[in-house]
Amino acid sequence: MSSKSGSGIAKTICNMCPTHCGIDVYVENGKTVGVTGMEEHSHHTLCIKAEAIPELVHSSERLTNPLKKVDGRFEEISWDEAFDLIASKLTDIKQKYGPHAVVVHIGEPFVFSDTERMLRRFSELYGTPNYTTGSSFCAFATIMGQSLTCGAYISPHYSVGTKCMMVWGKNPSESFPLEADAIRAMLGRGAKLIVVDPRATPLAKMADIHAQIRPGSDCALALSLLNVIIAEGRYDKAFIEQWTIGFDKLVEQVKEYSPERVEEITWVPAETIRNMARVYATSKPATISSGVALDHSTNGVQTVRAITTLVAITGNIDIAGGNIYNTSRFKRTSFRLKEKIVDKVSIGADYPLFSRYTHEETVVPGLDAILTEKPYPIKALLVVACNPVLTWANTNKVTQAFEKLDLLLVVDIFMSETAKLADIVLPGTTFLERQDIRNYESHLAVVSNKIIKPIGNSKEDWEIWAELGKRMGYAEYFPWEDSDELFKYWLKPSGISLDQLKQNPGGVHYAEREYQKYLKDGFETPSKKVEIYSELMGKFGYDPLPTFKEPAESPVSRSDLVEKYPLILTTGARTVNYLHSEYRNLPSLRRLVPDPLIEINSQTASSLGIADGDLVEVESLRGSIEIKAKLTEDIQPKVVSIQHGWSQANVNLLTDDEARDPVSGFVSFKSLMCRVTKVGG
Ligand code: SF4
Repeated sequence: MSSKSGSGIAKTICNMCPTHCGIDVYVENGKTVGVTGMEEHSHHTLCIKAEAIPELVHSSERLTNPLKKVDGRFEEISWDEAFDLIASKLTDIKQKYGPHAVVVHIGEPFVFSDTERMLRRFSELYGTPNYTTGSSFCAFATIMGQSLTCGAYISPHYSVGTKCMMVWGKNPSESFPLEADAIRAMLGRGAKLIVVDPRATPLAKMADIHAQIRPGSDCALALSLLNVIIAEGRYDKAFIEQWTIGFDKLVEQVKEYSPERVEEITWVPAETIRNMARVYATSKPATISSGVALDHSTNGVQTVRAITTLVAITGNIDIAGGNIYNTSRFKRTSFRLKEKIVDKVSIGADYPLFSRYTHEETVVPGLDAILTEKPYPIKALLVVACNPVLTWANTNKVTQAFEKLDLLLVVDIFMSETAKLADIVLPGTTFLERQDIRNYESHLAVVSNKIIKPIGNSKEDWEIWAELGKRMGYAEYFPWEDSDELFKYWLKPSGISLDQLKQNPGGVHYAEREYQKYLKDGFETPSKKVEIYSELMGKFGYDPLPTFKEPAESPVSRSDLVEKYPLILTTGARTVNYLHSEYRNLPSLRRLVPDPLIEINSQTASSLGIADGDLVEVESLRGSIEIKAKLTEDIQPKVVSIQHGWSQANVNLLTDDEARDPVSGFVSFKSLMCRVTKVGG
């Protein structure tokens, strides 16, 4: 692109979702006018969201100046005033209550980014132990369950040899379109497909087996698959003998999960369970792709442990076409300053394994900490690129807690529902206005180039924390003049230079893909083996074997509520147009999905006198919302589904933050009880 005219085609990475596709951006006079897939990048088939990038970047709703709330209204202020104000408030809080009185939270767009590293550095210099990210709500219960069992995150691998794919609690057609493409390609080559989902998703309709499961009962299903595989001897004896711990105990444990008993728990017919087990265990290599539906449960970590055990005992771990063992081999300079944290118990102390595996704290108990002042008063929350009012569970409690703070600071590109509650709002940037480096599972590093200058007076997000750090006396820890300097420093140990990345927009491989890495060094668990029986879990007071527990709120565990709340509410299903609470203000995307909807089975709706398009009230123990009904045959009759992220019908007014997975601290977004009535009916 010509830097003089500000026109041309520039290459970078789309950050509208975590797939991080490569894009060519068309710029005219400093303005983004179009986007196409970047041929050099392995991910270059773009989804509908990418077409809206120019709308996102140049939206008239973008925040362009720092804002301060005065008498309930926002006033524009200069960056100098904003930094001085924030520095003075944070200094006061530290003096009066200690650094732990500040909680820091950064959302999904910045997880594993330079901004996150700068914010974390800032938090550690300030001294708070309460550094939190979107990992409190997404993916990390899965990563914990897999790591506790086999020492690392294991991801699905679709190769020409893949004979069976099990998609569990995930709808890639909407959430990861490239994965859905890969699955369809494997189907075309004759691979079998099994889908576990209460909804008949597009892939479920193409599947050989669709297990239409009761939300939250996944662990029982996994244990029953293990029951069948073990009873029929369809496991990899040599692998188990050499590489697992606790198989004998598992054999006893799964005896009580016969398909007949588990049919009653999961609503999946016993014969379907047997078929699933046989197809999966006899079609090697087979891969399992599980989604956040498993994280969003009060039994999520144990569910993932059961599924990881399934992968291991069938010998599908770290083989081509199975599930790949991911250990990071991208060496970079650490920005951590752990020694600066003032040693005080964190808000996430009840979930020690979460901090052990994520190296951060869960933010979920933060609301109670703010409201009860236990274990100590929390006086400030710094929220970056996140909209907790729409995305955290139990919105009434979220707003009540935020209103109690002395300082709510929000950094965002739009005036989100959370920003509206803030004392100070700072304008951040979109991914076209800043530089970053992305790391892919295929051991590929790709530079995400800055294409245009920050809009208005917004600042590159990493700079916000570096600048604030300087105001607070930490200048020596933020010596970088620009992001090139920052990334050169960061890349030093990697053996890759920033210039190399800039010259290779499709990325630079820093390591070759290897399979069966455990043959060299074992697994990264305490025993170096797959720990079906985990002493570590036992040591922390959890069941050492994968164990099923009823969801905290279900027709079984709360039979007292069935009469009042007869339906199971599952929340958070995706549409490809949006990500969490983002992008609903972009006209081209909104036109396609204009309204929040509750998906309800046509027969169930008819029994309640509800027609397609009717306005209904949905009520749970926490509250109620009004929303339009979408009648469908594609959902289990006793289950209803509502997407999250809509301010017009915020489903998190219905969700619960108190019942949590005891290991990860994750809340249940997927299994709640509700009733649906026609408004005015
Ligand atoms: S899948 Fe769509 S939103 Fe996600 S990175 Fe690719 S183009 Fe962007």
